[in-house]
Amino acid sequence: MESDTSRHFLRQWIEGDVAAGKTGGTVVTRFPPEPNGYIHIGHAKAVCVDFGMAKLFGGECHLRLDDTNPTKESDEYAENIKKDINWLGFQWSGKGDAGEPGFYNASNMFDTMFQIAEELIRRGQAYCCNLGQEEWKQYRGVPEKPGTPSPSRDTSPERNLQIFHEMRDGKYADGEWCVRAKIDMASPNIHFRDPVIYRIRHVAHYHLGNTWCIYPMYDFAHPIEDALEGVTHSMCTLEFEVHRPLYDWVVDRMDEQGLLPVRNGVKIRTQQREFARLNLTYTVMSKRLLLQMVQEKRVAGWDDPRMPTVCGMRRRGYTPGAIREFCERIGVSKVESESDPALLEWCVREELNQTATRRMAVLDPVKVVIDNWGEGLGDAAGGDAPRYVELPNNPLDEAAGTRTIPFGKEIWIERADFQEVPEKKFFRMAPGQEVRLRGACIFKCTGCVKDENGVVTEIHGTWDPESWGGNAADGRKVKGTIHWVDCATGVKAEVRLYDKLFTEKDPLKDGPAEFLKYLNPDSLKVVTAYVEPVLAEAKELDHFQFERTGYFVADEYDSKPGTPVFNRTCSLKDSYKPA
Ligand code: ATP
Ligand code: MG
Repeated sequence: MESDTSRHFLRQWIEGDVAAGKTGGTVVTRFPPEPNGYIHIGHAKAVCVDFGMAKLFGGECHLRLDDTNPTKESDEYAENIKKDINWLGFQWSGKGDAGEPGFYNASNMFDTMFQIAEELIRRGQAYCCNLGQEEWKQYRGVPEKPGTPSPSRDTSPERNLQIFHEMRDGKYADGEWCVRAKIDMASPNIHFRDPVIYRIRHVAHYHLGNTWCIYPMYDFAHPIEDALEGVTHSMCTLEFEVHRPLYDWVVDRMDEQGLLPVRNGVKIRTQQREFARLNLTYTVMSKRLLLQMVQEKRVAGWDDPRMPTVCGMRRRGYTPGAIREFCERIGVSKVESESDPALLEWCVREELNQTATRRMAVLDPVKVVIDNWGEGLGDAAGGDAPRYVELPNNPLDEAAGTRTIPFGKEIWIERADFQEVPEKKFFRMAPGQEVRLRGACIFKCTGCVKDENGVVTEIHGTWDPESWGGNAADGRKVKGTIHWVDCATGVKAEVRLYDKLFTEKDPLKDGPAEFLKYLNPDSLKVVTAYVEPVLAEAKELDHFQFERTGYFVADEYDSKPGTPVFNRTCSLKDSYKPA
């Protein structure tokens, strides 16, 4: 059954256009990241919308790197954006502009953009302006009152063309001149008051080097990119809604210049619609602030498992399916809202509960010695030989099979599973009390050894050989069951316990200069654990449920055969329930 959220307004909009024959037979969308950082969960929402709508309508979604801003862009970012979109489960398709299907670089359209600007100038629809930044703002004015025209507004097209060419040829310094569209200095929409479409930036571009020292502004470049690629439905976040008249203005001018593509006899006129961005509490999502945390080494990198980036979430053990489910559940709307990271975790947990391999791991180990191990067992092996326990890899999935775990005289248990003087209703290990060692046997604690500080160093007790498998032969009840790892064969592992990166719901509440003071000092705790022998061979990004402790993933980079490293994805349970 379709959920209510999946029939959102964007889908209805596209359905209407398909029915009206506006797409020329193919719905084309695009995801246009700027390669100036890694994509985060907010981008993942846009990815789900852009690729998701194309898929739904059997169309294509382009991946376009919006690389019109020469600073801060790099191939490292570009490559990782691709990797992360693929990992989320999406693939771009379509013609492409340089061999790779569906893949475009906005910078490959610079020549055309320049020509479009020249033509605007020739037609008296754009002009060169040399007002300084401050003057320009003053002239533009406020929405309530018409602005003041630039003194250059009526310069002849010939002279404007000359200046524009000189701008391109590097005759002027940054900011000395710019090109502005000649629209309406009295418009109540401030973006319509002769917006800047080209500016001078003497900065090398990561692909084109110093080919250009003038660069198009977003509001001019974006509709051109969409139109040239034959995009039918250009979806973006709400802050661009007020820019839409300008988007349409540029598309109209391209139409006048005969530049709109035709598909199956239909002229393709791109249109923009806006939806609310995804905001998550307890984190920041601006790429600038994420970069700052990386540069200042507040986190281990863009892919630190505490980061809201897609690569960080992957490394944390979140799954693409859970991220897509989360984006589906929060839905697409025009109303700004904040989402709770607990919902995302809930989605992760729902999936991992079904799919994660069960294992035992002891994160805060204390040793237990079974004093009567090997005595009077009638065991062929006799002595201190180990026995073997067979447990399912996933009780919810019989096909996942079982694994065999050694059990012997000495085992590790969690320190918290022992109390020398048990509290009321503490049914785990305590002197004089019986507890079930998961899958193995019933054990009765007799006492413990402590160091000079009173810290328990070793627990002693006896097992009931007749309870092998876990239940008492005489049917007596044992309330508690705890997990364990055999000392002789258990494998040491580094385990990274992650928590929220910020202690504040809105880390930006005192402004972007102050957000670091809300960093959670306890967001990472590293412990040395003991894990079942089979976990030594865990492969990067293998997901596990460590019984009674939580969901964990083998670290994408640091986990190696023999020396596994695990990241805690999330706890087993949470009080959170989706609405
Ligand atoms: P930032 O402000 O963090 O640098 P950005 O919006 O400038 O992000 P882009 O690379 O330009 O980053 O974004 C690519 C696409 O992703 C755009 O269409 C943008 O609207 C969308 N997007 C970015 N952030 C979000 C978000 N939080 N929720 C939904 N879509 C988003
Ligand atoms: Mg942007």
